[in-house]
Amino acid sequence: MVDIKPIAKKSSSNLVVISNRGACTFKETPQGIKAIPSISGLVSALLPVLDIEGGSWIAWGGRYGKESEVIGNSLAISSNDSKFIFHEVMLTREEVELYYNGFSNSCLWPLCHNFIEKAVFKEEYWKAYCEVNKKYSSVFLKTAGLEDWVWVHDYHLALLPGYIRKSRPHARVALFWHIPFPPPEIFNVIPWSKEIIRGMLESQLIGFHSPKYVQNFIQTAKEIAGAEVDFINGYIYCSGRKIKVITAPIGIDWHEIRDLAKNNQIIQKAAEIRKAAGGEYLLLGVDRLDYTKGIIERLKAVSWLLKNHSQYRSKLTFIQIAAPSRENNSAYQKLRHQVEETIGYLNGIFTENYHVPIRYIFKSLDKSELVAHYLAADMALVTPLKDGMNLVAKEYVAANDKDIGVLLLSSFAGAASQLKGALISNPYNTRETSAQIIKGLKMSLIEKKQRLAAMNRVVKEQDIYWWWQKFQQSWREASRGKCLMETL
Ligand code: UDP
Repeated sequence: MVDIKPIAKKSSSNLVVISNRGACTFKETPQGIKAIPSISGLVSALLPVLDIEGGSWIAWGGRYGKESEVIGNSLAISSNDSKFIFHEVMLTREEVELYYNGFSNSCLWPLCHNFIEKAVFKEEYWKAYCEVNKKYSSVFLKTAGLEDWVWVHDYHLALLPGYIRKSRPHARVALFWHIPFPPPEIFNVIPWSKEIIRGMLESQLIGFHSPKYVQNFIQTAKEIAGAEVDFINGYIYCSGRKIKVITAPIGIDWHEIRDLAKNNQIIQKAAEIRKAAGGEYLLLGVDRLDYTKGIIERLKAVSWLLKNHSQYRSKLTFIQIAAPSRENNSAYQKLRHQVEETIGYLNGIFTENYHVPIRYIFKSLDKSELVAHYLAADMALVTPLKDGMNLVAKEYVAANDKDIGVLLLSSFAGAASQLKGALISNPYNTRETSAQIIKGLKMSLIEKKQRLAAMNRVVKEQDIYWWWQKFQQSWREASRGKCLMETL
């Protein structure tokens, strides 16, 4: 639960987290400002860190401001035991349209997920992106101390380390990039690729989820920004500075998911879901409704299976939970239409004896409802076309630690480099994905248990606290003067 109060004093911690959206969205009501918890992988990851560290979080709170407004509410937020201060960045409606829906989500997002044909390059998007990054920088300069540790998050704020360094040359700035980083030949398609890389390189430390993204970034810095690089030790030398680049795969709060999975009410709910779904086998997909998640390709694989293995028709149910996402963006509106049309079409063909094989839920579920679905399903189909990490895969594994379940994972999800016990498929290969689903349904109990145990070892050990420790340790090393050129 999120509770907000007027700010009393500065938090004693000097961690400053900066991201596009924060822990909550503000809504003005007759009773005052209400904070509604936000749902996203980034928020799920950063809340536990702020729970431990305290500090402050600078982000847009979902409210529109006037052009002259830069900073909105500064409020103390309690989440579980911790308190941190939320500094709200105010953005105009136009800025949100051009910087967020435009440059961030219609240019950088598709491009970093290898969808070059979907990327839109518009000068006005780029200008707004620069201006909004400057706005975040001025909120930082107004609220943060000289000794603070500034942790910038994600592709919305790639220029921010550069703007911060201009005003505070000795600032301790790190960046975590939560989405894939593509190879240089793709990144270079962006007309402003050099400016973006140079902005990122003003950080002391840059983290990515997988070694592949680290390699792509270092190669891009070399080719596009002309930097000297050291692939083996993960260093980039640029403008007299030494920047450390690390792999730090993000984790989940394993114990939180396990506790939910042990809760009797949730176990009961899982039994009800199973009963309501009918049939013998239950497959599950949980995604934001995003074209990178491969929902259409997954439906094709289920369709191929039902067409070519008709014995499963009245026995198999596939539940697809699709959390609404970026609903103002036309690519997402088109996808929703396509998903709903495809499901209707397939149910028309494959419904037998009134058993409807595909169930579709278009809403965001809370964690306890999600865990009930994770427990109910025989198999999770996590088959994105490209995904930075994918936390749903890890949550499914954690929920089923003491039960049985099978994870089918795309080879293009960041999680695939960690979850070796998963069945793997190429989501573009319909026949292979369908064959892997059948393999999962037929898998022996002992093999299921062995695979889940192997995956749980990793998910439990490399959880969200491990991720923060790993990142923090590298950051301390990077800021202990070791990152200055003179020390080479
Ligand atoms: N999630 C949620 N409710 C939903 C769907 C998803 O709370 O209805 C959460 C899910 O538990 C996970 C996050 O949203 O923690 C999604 O993270 P992921 O890395 O899988 O994908 P992203 O949405 O960040 O691309």
